[in-house]
Amino acid sequence: MANCNNPNKSIGCTVTQCEYHCNGQNYCTLEKITVGTHEANPTVIECTDCESFKAKQG
Ligand code: SF4
Repeated sequence: MANCNNPNKSIGCTVTQCEYHCNGQNYCTLEKITVGTHEANPTVIECTDCESFKAKQG
């Protein structure tokens, strides 16, 4: 993948396995993301998820 030239500096992200991660930089490339939870009553960081995540192809 080519170096990322469109980081969204309002959305820091370290999930390099995501299709939308900014290659070489710790940012997302999407204009907006949705954060949600898989818990009924979230209490710690681990309860939250980036619901815009998409696994990188290949
Ligand atoms: S969609 Fe979510 S997980 Fe993927 S790069 Fe953006 S912030 Fe990170």
